[in-house]
Amino acid sequence: MEHVHGSYDLTLVLFSYAVAVVASYTVLDLVGRITTSEGHHRWLWTMFGALAMGLGVWSMHFVGMLAFSLDVSVAYNMFTVISSVVVVVVASFLALLVVGRSKQMTMPQLLVGALLLAAGISAMHYIGMAAMQIEIMYHYGYVMLSVIIAIIASIAALWLAFYFRKESESRLSWKKICSGFIMGAAVVGMHYTGMHAASFKVRQTLELQDGLLLDHKLLAYMISTGTLLTLGLSLFGIYISNRFSKQDSEIAQREKWYRSLFENNQDAIISIDTSYRILNFNKAAEKLTGLHGEWFHNQTIDNLFPYIVKEEQEETREMFFRALEGEIRSYSTAILHPNGTRLDLHVINVPVEIGGEVVGSYIIAKDISEEKNSKEKVQLLAFHDELTGLPNRRMLNEQLLKLIERKVERFSVMVLDIDRFKLINDSLGHTYGDIFLQEVSNRILRAIQHMSVTLARMGGDEFTVLCSQNYEADELAKLAERIIAEIAVPYRLKESDFYVSASIGIAIYPQDGQDAEQLLKHADTAMYEVKKNGKNGFQFYTGQLNAQLQQKIELESELRRAIAEQQLTVYYQPQVRTKDGCMVGIEALVRWNHPEKGMVSPSLFIPIAEETGMIYELGEWVLREACSQMKRWHNAGGPLIPVSVNLSSQQFHQASLTDTIQAVLKQTGLEPQYLELEITESMMMDENISSDILRQLTAIGIRISLDDFGTGYSSLSYLRMLPIQKLKIDRSFIRDIASNDNDKAIVATIISMAQHLNMDVIAEGIETREQLDILINHDCKEIQGYYYSRPLPADEIEETFFIPLRDRSLPNIS
Ligand code: C2E
Ligand code: CA
Ligand code: CA
Repeated sequence: MEHVHGSYDLTLVLFSYAVAVVASYTVLDLVGRITTSEGHHRWLWTMFGALAMGLGVWSMHFVGMLAFSLDVSVAYNMFTVISSVVVVVVASFLALLVVGRSKQMTMPQLLVGALLLAAGISAMHYIGMAAMQIEIMYHYGYVMLSVIIAIIASIAALWLAFYFRKESESRLSWKKICSGFIMGAAVVGMHYTGMHAASFKVRQTLELQDGLLLDHKLLAYMISTGTLLTLGLSLFGIYISNRFSKQDSEIAQREKWYRSLFENNQDAIISIDTSYRILNFNKAAEKLTGLHGEWFHNQTIDNLFPYIVKEEQEETREMFFRALEGEIRSYSTAILHPNGTRLDLHVINVPVEIGGEVVGSYIIAKDISEEKNSKEKVQLLAFHDELTGLPNRRMLNEQLLKLIERKVERFSVMVLDIDRFKLINDSLGHTYGDIFLQEVSNRILRAIQHMSVTLARMGGDEFTVLCSQNYEADELAKLAERIIAEIAVPYRLKESDFYVSASIGIAIYPQDGQDAEQLLKHADTAMYEVKKNGKNGFQFYTGQLNAQLQQKIELESELRRAIAEQQLTVYYQPQVRTKDGCMVGIEALVRWNHPEKGMVSPSLFIPIAEETGMIYELGEWVLREACSQMKRWHNAGGPLIPVSVNLSSQQFHQASLTDTIQAVLKQTGLEPQYLELEITESMMMDENISSDILRQLTAIGIRISLDDFGTGYSSLSYLRMLPIQKLKIDRSFIRDIASNDNDKAIVATIISMAQHLNMDVIAEGIETREQLDILINHDCKEIQGYYYSRPLPADEIEETFFIPLRDRSLPNIS
């Protein structure tokens, strides 16, 4: 029996080194995983690491053993071999467990781990040696050295492993590879030192008992190749898993971003699947709906529908459906919050497609109530009249357009204008004018209630009633009558009663106009026709009216020219004393000598001049003309009588009236007592204002006569208060005075009242001897009418009247 040390197969030694390096590298890689993973993953990775390390070290050791050849064949005890593997795997497991416990490795952790690992490796080595069924002697110095190397290698391995745990997980790292080489060297060093500590007793005879006899070389190659393959594969596996886990973590990251976008979004977001089940919802969704988070679980979107306002439900459902068909839909809807408020929402339904197939949709809702409210307010302001709150012209136009667009068979518009509103506004001021208009609007509303009509204020005193239903003409007429009756009830303003009337024009679609503009224009035409015929009434549009209106529009533009081109002239009508037929006054009446139409009546163009404001210029011109004519007559030795000039309401309320009159008197040189102004009762709406004006006028020294007396609505009480010198009995009472006893009685009353009030009285419109006689009988002292003379141009007046009237006694008019 002799002691041997044996020899080494260099290739196998290199192989064993290679195994050690790959094993070391694998472990370095795995430790990184252990420290970064959590939960049961961590256990799995630790186990896997322990297996890789244990098996790697073991197979390195085993190949190293096999690289060593004794001259004799050696058998191995299988159980002991397996024990050696188990020991190193368990030790590695414990070591990794200690080291990988926390993200930061402490020195004690490193030492304990390294000691465990070194113990495992050493135990593995010596147990492995013990498996050889051969007697071994140890040199204890080398054994100690091998254990120390094992400890140092373990410390180095674990430290390196921990140090490199953060190295990029998926890429091969040169530093890690170098460390693998160093660690491999340490492990191999330990092994071969351990081998060097051993010497074997070899007997000449084969000591094969019941152990395994191995073909050293083949087995060594097989094991090392297998191990390399296994480790290589596991490295590859780790590499792949790293790649995936990197993707996973990127996906997880992205998901976190999306989640944050979803959860912290200001807009409510609810996701549903194709069977309308609610999959997810965010905090804003809870807040918006006022529903608690738990409510959403196991609900379908259908359960949300009761919260949507009734009129929007159908459309909203349709939109959901569309989104699930893959269309992005944005729309507005409204819900009822459990606290009772209505919330207007803007919603976008976004389909979610996976692999080209819609799997659900996101419902993204934004509360736009505030936005909508302010929009509505703007709309309200834009489409309503501020004073009355009624729809305005713009709104009415839109409604008309809609009706026409909808191809409604028949509808109608009524244009309503308050007669004499200008008077109220001029005489009471705008504040009262506004109050009056509000009252008018209330009254019309009262008259139209229970009918499907819309009332709009078009501006000023102009209102329009839109009857969107197919009302018959007689129904429209009744409605118009109702409105007129409501308007006619006296208005109490500034402690007095005011009487106004309304003129209504009616146009029917489509017969009276195909579009909104035409229709309103024609209703206007009909309304003006009412005004022309004495106001206070209604009139349906007819084609004939249009021709008349056309004429009016023409007249308006021609009148402007007429004033500039001096086509206007003044005619004069004498006022005669009944007693002796003497001319005691003369009324100036304007005429328009139209180049084509001939003499145009003032009752045609004065209203136009009033409407357009031309009356100021026109009125002043007549005043100047009449005064200078009268002055010329005075100068020429004509009778010293006054001239009467008619005054429009607008002129009467013009602030500069007295100044204008004074200037004209001054310019023409006519003494004030020879100027008489004819005003009408309707100008006396506000007693205070009119008495102020009248006092200013009479202060100049001019006379005031009250024209058309008896036709106005005003009370008689003011007659006593106001400085009025003369009453002019209206022609309408004279016309039938011969046959109508009522008229006769009225005329008689006016005459005696005037006498009692110490006023002059004159009757106008006397055309016959009979009328004259009746008036003389009732003690009417002055008259004016065709019976004596029509209004005549100035030169004809001179010819006819400047020879004493007595000589031509009572000319015949025929
Ligand atoms: P008025 O002030 O009532 O004038 C009397 C009108 O009666 C005049 O009509 C006159 O021609 C007419 N007339 C006089 N006697 C008789 C008669 O016996 N029978 C009939 N059928 N008619 C008679 P004219 O000149 O056409 O004026 C109509 C109205 O136009 C006037 O009514 C007046 O309100 C207005 N007007 C005329 N000139 C002026 C003016 O210079 N300024 C203003 N603001 N209005 C004027
Ligand atoms: Ca007159
Ligand atoms: Ca008159």
